[in-house]
Amino acid sequence: MTSNPQQYGQPGVDEKPWHTLSVNETLTKLATTPRGLTAAEADERRARYGPNSIPVRRGPGIFKLILRQFQNPLIYVLLIAGAVSIAVNEVIDAAFIFGVLSLNAAVGAFQEWQAETGARALQAAVKVRATVRRGGVLEELDAAELVPGDVVLLESGNATPADLHLISCIELQVDESILTGESEPVRKNPDAVLPGITPVGDRSNMLHAGSSVFSGRASAVVASTGAHTQLGRIAKSLSTQSAQPPLIARMKKFTTRLALYLTLLIFVLGAAQFARGSEVGEVFLLAVALAVSAIPEGLPVGVTIALSIASRRMARRNVIVRLLPAVEGLGACTVIATDKTGTLTVNRMTVKRLVLPDGYEVEVTGEGLELSGRLQRQTGEIALTEQALFMRMARAGVLCNESQIRIVDGEVSAIGDTVDAAFLVLGEKLGMAKVALEDNAVRVDMIPYESARKYAASFNRVDGMVEVSVKGAVELVLGMCDTADRPAITEQALKLARSGFRVLALASGRVQPTADNTHATEDPTGLQFLGLVGLIDPVRHDVPEAVQKCRSAGVQVKMVTGDHPATALAIARQLGIANDESEVITGREIAAADPESGEFRARLNAASVYARVEPEQKMAIVNSLQAEGHFVAVTGDGVNDAPALRAANIGVSMGKSGTDVARDASDLIIADDNFASIVNGIEEGRTAYDNVRKIVWLLLATAMGELMVFLLSSLTGLPIPLTAVQLLWLNVVTEGIQDVALAFERREPGVLRRRPRSPSEQILDRRMIEQVLISGSVMGFGAFMVFYWLVEVSGWNVIAASNMLLLVMVFYENIHVFNARSELRSVFHIPFSANPLVVGSAFLAQAIHIGAMFTPGLRDVLDIEPVSAMTWIIAFGVSLSALASAEVYKMYRRRIDQHENAKQPTW
Ligand code: ADP
Ligand code: MG
Repeated sequence: MTSNPQQYGQPGVDEKPWHTLSVNETLTKLATTPRGLTAAEADERRARYGPNSIPVRRGPGIFKLILRQFQNPLIYVLLIAGAVSIAVNEVIDAAFIFGVLSLNAAVGAFQEWQAETGARALQAAVKVRATVRRGGVLEELDAAELVPGDVVLLESGNATPADLHLISCIELQVDESILTGESEPVRKNPDAVLPGITPVGDRSNMLHAGSSVFSGRASAVVASTGAHTQLGRIAKSLSTQSAQPPLIARMKKFTTRLALYLTLLIFVLGAAQFARGSEVGEVFLLAVALAVSAIPEGLPVGVTIALSIASRRMARRNVIVRLLPAVEGLGACTVIATDKTGTLTVNRMTVKRLVLPDGYEVEVTGEGLELSGRLQRQTGEIALTEQALFMRMARAGVLCNESQIRIVDGEVSAIGDTVDAAFLVLGEKLGMAKVALEDNAVRVDMIPYESARKYAASFNRVDGMVEVSVKGAVELVLGMCDTADRPAITEQALKLARSGFRVLALASGRVQPTADNTHATEDPTGLQFLGLVGLIDPVRHDVPEAVQKCRSAGVQVKMVTGDHPATALAIARQLGIANDESEVITGREIAAADPESGEFRARLNAASVYARVEPEQKMAIVNSLQAEGHFVAVTGDGVNDAPALRAANIGVSMGKSGTDVARDASDLIIADDNFASIVNGIEEGRTAYDNVRKIVWLLLATAMGELMVFLLSSLTGLPIPLTAVQLLWLNVVTEGIQDVALAFERREPGVLRRRPRSPSEQILDRRMIEQVLISGSVMGFGAFMVFYWLVEVSGWNVIAASNMLLLVMVFYENIHVFNARSELRSVFHIPFSANPLVVGSAFLAQAIHIGAMFTPGLRDVLDIEPVSAMTWIIAFGVSLSALASAEVYKMYRRRIDQHENAKQPTW
């Protein structure tokens, strides 16, 4: 077959599709070999084919965003109002209305645009990585770097990074549900050459982008990349819209309902005004303006902004939010069930102890990937016979191994499983390089490590025989051996585990070669036990403090691990997660118990360490905790963790060590894999929720105040207190951004010393209703009293009285912004620096209003004029009533909270 380089990855119409080619035909056509492309060839193809990425649909452009701001019933009414104004020849009013609308649209569009781009940047931060063989050497790359002809290695949990033709595979099962809708994983086989056009789901020698490896291992060659993949072709029809966070949805519903009631109320008010003889046009304008003021249409936007700010703050603290609802959810979390390895520990495994079957024990020096180190004994030299036995152990650990270490400029780095890498390092310390070993012991088959299996085996051909090397959980490996003093070895292993070592056993044996080289059909038996290995994986230094923080925040921390209970407990003790054995429950106990039994449930939920659990059991743990009313965050990194991640209230995956499948099933990704980051996320989540409440308090209270002034004036037969233009000015100009600015409020001290809020708690809870009623009525009544006094008692004309009223209202708004900065803390205790934006915008709004009083033209439209210093001071003094009432209420709340906190149970 001739290879036309123009057509890699995109066979023309007359060409045979990839799945009809054999492995060799495919390699030839792609001009590559199983050793991979050379770096130079890869670069050249990269330049020709571009990045391996599917063009994502761009977000709405700024123009569309602006238009979107007008798609709102309230705005339609305002537009009509503008038109009516022109019709009744109030051109200036009309111009003002349109001006205000444009300003509103610009501000709204800008905010949405910022939220969108922020979200996009976060999404892009999560990249799929691929293990590629180039020039015979393994490398880990961003999947976007792949080109046709690249040879990639895949293991369970990997996303398929492009359309691939299989070269070889072991136990390979692939989840293709995104492409085919078929939820069961399918088996694959490189040799199948299929005739003609075959549906994607039946192309058993191909792996397609968009699918993921459910189990096993594979090596495959990249056939097509980016837009030329099957997924690329259908990408445009895949929806990228994610669901709206429940909080935003609730706010929208609430606003709509409120809008309905308010419209009714305003209609009644308008009718009364009309009955009193006002003109239809004027009443209509006023009703519209009143609707604009009283309906808190900024609420959903404010909530969206608060959540997206929180997600940006979280990103800065290594928490990447995949789904916005997780932001509010994190704040309500009551339990974190976390993985041990990599999340609580640093995942830097070092083989530290070797124990021979007879109990002879040595220490291994050197940390992490350091290649220098040796065996040492506390007393005396190590005899040659023992030396040889330790060499046999290391050999088994190096042969039964899927990782690779590389030394570039003296820097050692590892690709693959960290336990495996630790065994390679041990081999290097004993002068045993993997490449050298494999020269005379070629691997013919293997049983790859999967966390559900808890062991691995390698079959290597040596001297016409096949040698099998096994490493894995002690009890499993011992079960495959027919020698050995089992109780003594088990006891020895337990001793190591209790000191915090992760313990693995090594064994080896011989089997008869078979013609087709398949050996891995069942668990090996009849092996010889070689010894025990103790690995150390240091705990992350900041975790104990984070665990402590969780405790004071009323969040329980539970460890879920596949490791031995004794190892798990030893680590849990170091971290302050558990104290004694009664807090440990094992996977076997969980499997044996009746899940419906209340006693078992209680024990399951009370445990702090779940050891030797199967990944599938995570789901049962999550469900049981949820049944008890917990709001559960769960971490997971493997394929089998996906169901638990979905079932949990918050699924957390790991950015570094996690698999693509786990990441896809999660709500949050922890970029640095560190447990402490989850706690930071909780802190930000609670802050976000607090800020949403602040916005609600601000908007509802000021709206209520304005409405009350109108209501009371109407009831007492006073003239209309403010004109339509004045109302719009009040709401759009002098209160246009303070609500959004509140979303930037920095976290309050002690957010992590509170109990988690109940997940079912409504924003409009008793406290919120109380504070809205108090602030709203103080402002409404205060402003009305000023107007009443001026008109009825002092006999001011209406224009002058309205001027004063407007000034008082602007003051009230901006004073109340300061109240709303905290529901509990006194205004005088919140530093300005905690949110310069809100402070600045309040002062600016005030300045704009005073400026407008002096600006010819503007002041005529607004019907305002400068006031004397004395009047100014009086207006300010009146507005302080909002401050005073909020301070008193906060004081009262603080006393109640103290009382309630004292009563709260601690976990
Ligand atoms: P964790 O929950 O801490 O991540 P794992 O599920 O990874 O634990 O490991 C569970 C057990 O599987 C370990 O205690 C060990 O006995 C065994 N094991 C872990 N890694 C390997 C490996 N690379 N090869 C063989 N066995 C392993
Ligand atoms: Mg693990």
